[in-house]
Amino acid sequence: YQHQNFRPTKAIIELENIQYNIKQLREHLHPATEIIAVVKANAYGHGDLQVANAALQAGASMLAVATPEEALHLREFIKEAPILILGATPVYFATFAAQYDISLTVFSLDWVNEVAKQAVNFKKPLKLHIKIDSGMGRIGVRKKTELTALYNAIDANEHFLIDGIFTHFATADEEDSTQYNEQLATFVSFVESLPKKPRLVHAANTAATLNKEDVQFDAVRFGISMYGLAPSPYVDKHLPFSLKPALSLESELVHVKKIEQGDKVSYGGNYVATKEEWIGTMPIGYADGLLRGLAGQEVLIQGNRVPIIGRICMDQCMIKLPYEMSVGEKVILIGQQQQQEIQMKEWSDRLQTIVYEIPCMLTSRIPRIYK
Ligand code: PLP
Repeated sequence: YQHQNFRPTKAIIELENIQYNIKQLREHLHPATEIIAVVKANAYGHGDLQVANAALQAGASMLAVATPEEALHLREFIKEAPILILGATPVYFATFAAQYDISLTVFSLDWVNEVAKQAVNFKKPLKLHIKIDSGMGRIGVRKKTELTALYNAIDANEHFLIDGIFTHFATADEEDSTQYNEQLATFVSFVESLPKKPRLVHAANTAATLNKEDVQFDAVRFGISMYGLAPSPYVDKHLPFSLKPALSLESELVHVKKIEQGDKVSYGGNYVATKEEWIGTMPIGYADGLLRGLAGQEVLIQGNRVPIIGRICMDQCMIKLPYEMSVGEKVILIGQQQQQEIQMKEWSDRLQTIVYEIPCMLTSRIPRIYK
């Protein structure tokens, strides 16, 4: 019974849509530019293994994650594809990375010197991508002198292999290209200062790939739009190709009742019926990622847009029905029904956040069903 979903709340992931988005990108890119599929954070909540396999099949050549745990989880099931950890990793992880052929991000000479002490035990050279902080201010080398020292230390050690060099843009999703251009120029001059170009030079995230020029280099790191979501409202308006969202979220009515004028609904008793109303209860709440701030958000039922009313509870919430409906009626929280659609953007606007947060905040209690 472990593999059954008894509760009718689920996220449906259409892997075909992920592949469609990658194929659209493939056609947009220079033929020699590789696609690195960014599948960190459980593939932005979509399921790391399923998305990684679908992405590789559709033309991605490398996988990128944020943490050692994410990389090891992928490597357990995906033997061949290169995997890069984009974040900082502890020195003691380097042995595992070498053993499991996981590429690491490097930006500190101290880290390299410490890892070098264990490197004699490496059976295969450890692959490294040097990170340049060209203006994001997060991790990376900020001075050319630092880069030279780091490069030389890695290059001199036969247990290391410089496989790539990369940077990350802070404002590629905006119309104004001032900071983007500065970052790009810095990165290019850092790369050009090296005695030899590493195999894989990469800089662009989704926004830079879709919204800026001259940034493809050897590879692009494709995250948010692989999932069919635009990185920002500005990029959304200027997409070079169409995207198909991959995740929809649905549930069902588990209870339906008629309430009378003055009757209250949910914690605090803040929702008070002004007249006779039909109310449906759904088994989804803030512990699933339907945050309390989403009270008032509309859902789709029988092609109608209806609001979530009263406070959202941990595991349940109530919606106002236009007329009597049956228990078991399907409710779409994100996705399409008849001619209607609720996009994640509606949730992120209501929560005053970015669309990235929406699939990431759907908790593991929501089963992901693959189509
Ligand atoms: N590269 C790095 C270093 C990142 O941190 C991320 C995600 O935040 C990405 C690429 C992918 O970005 P996006 O999802 O905007 O394409």
